[in-house]
Amino acid sequence: MTDRRTALVYHERYLWHDAGSAASVIPAGGMVEPGPHAESPERIRRINSLVEVSGLGEQVERVRPRPATLDELLRFHTAGYVERVQELSDGEGGDAGEYAPVNRSSYEIALLAVGGCLTAVDAVVDGRADNAYALVRPPGHHALADKGMGGCIFANAALAAFHALDAHNLERIAIVDWDAHHGNGTQAAFYDDPRVLTISLHQADCFPPGSGQIDETGDGRGRGSNINIPLPPGSGTGAFDAAFDRIVVPALDAHRPELLIVACGFDSSAWDPHARLMLHSAAYRRLTQAMLGVADRHAAGRLVVCHEGGYAPGYTPFCGLAVLEELSGAYTGVADPFLPIFEGYGGQELQPHQEAVITAVEQRAGAR
Ligand SMILES: [Zn+2]
Repeated sequence: MTDRRTALVYHERYLWHDAGSAASVIPAGGMVEPGPHAESPERIRRINSLVEVSGLGEQVERVRPRPATLDELLRFHTAGYVERVQELSDGEGGDAGEYAPVNRSSYEIALLAVGGCLTAVDAVVDGRADNAYALVRPPGHHALADKGMGGCIFANAALAAFHALDAHNLERIAIVDWDAHHGNGTQAAFYDDPRVLTISLHQADCFPPGSGQIDETGDGRGRGSNINIPLPPGSGTGAFDAAFDRIVVPALDAHRPELLIVACGFDSSAWDPHARLMLHSAAYRRLTQAMLGVADRHAAGRLVVCHEGGYAPGYTPFCGLAVLEELSGAYTGVADPFLPIFEGYGGQELQPHQEAVITAVEQRAGAR
């Protein structure tokens, strides 16, 4: 028996988006030898596999996604951009912006990724599930209105929030992004919109370069409704726990969201090649518990998790299992074999230069 009804949205087709041949994220060609792209199907296939093998798959409700409609995309994206992605996908493929590869059928699969997040919102807001995890790819939090970035084609989490506003008439939503990289697309979507509080914890000056500074706090009526917490490289569980206790949770409690969305990247983990942060499965458990607490206090438990980055396919399954166990309250007893190593990393506790960043953000947030 589980405490909560958790919907897991997943589709085999998410594995069929082909990010092409690359060295990590740099397209192959010239002096770059062809190899597997980092935004690989393995990132989420292995999470889904561990959910099944661990037995958790029997404790969650599997929900099939539907594709997003054009109108749903146009709540944020420009018609010209959507057309361009479709043309690339129907043609020879190409880059939808910066490091956002599109190949055959990428358009349809990206629609299914957005639709997976919308399906998760529907399940939670309509009361068919208490919370939901949309295990989708391609990811979304870097995508801008008119440009793909960093592997992201359409803005999954932002479009989930627009859906909750427009289709479900909710008035206050919050998006917490704990991907290691700045959620620049999500920030842009609601920069002048006070209805949606956007909070991004990320490695300072990582990707996009220079993006996600403390002084980016929103504009116009949205002033104060965007919070960036740019943590120094090397930040571990102490820095994230302090940021949650001192900034994230108080800001959410002040906003009182009717729906809480998490943009969940596992590239903040200690093993990830795309950032230099040090989280582990036990840390993601605590972050998830904190979000469940906020959702319980303000949103009748309504929490939707949209999958973002995470490029260590050997480790992300244990992070994903941890988050899903906390969401559902169903514990499989499957241990994270990496945990003793990552918990033992030096510098996991809050360091003075990390605390200085948190204090600076805290002071700014307090002045909102
Ligand atoms: Zn990322």
